Amino acid sequence: MKRGEPIRTCVACRQEAGKRGLIRLVRLPDGSAGHDAGGRAPGRGAYLHHAQDCLALARQRRALERALKARVDQVLWQTLAVVSQADESGGVK
Ligand SMILES: [Zn+2]
Repeated sequence: MKRGEPIRTCVACRQEAGKRGLIRLVRLPDGSAGHDAGGRAPGRGAYLHHAQDCLALARQRRALERALKARVDQVLWQTLAVVSQADESGGVK
């Protein structure tokens, strides 16, 4: 973790991590949740570890829905599954 890196809490396991180790989700104007790939989208944000476990946990507990007060649709879960897998294996972006 780099010095000065912002610390955020994963909505699934409630553990803190540097922003870079987390996936950022934002509430979109239409009331649904979206993946903020760049980590800079304005608005209410929620964070998840780049981990399948946290993804599964968030899904099970509806943690993202509660944190963002937004809908999380099937497509987003699929996107997040791909994103967290890619990051875990040290691949793309
Ligand atoms: Zn977590």
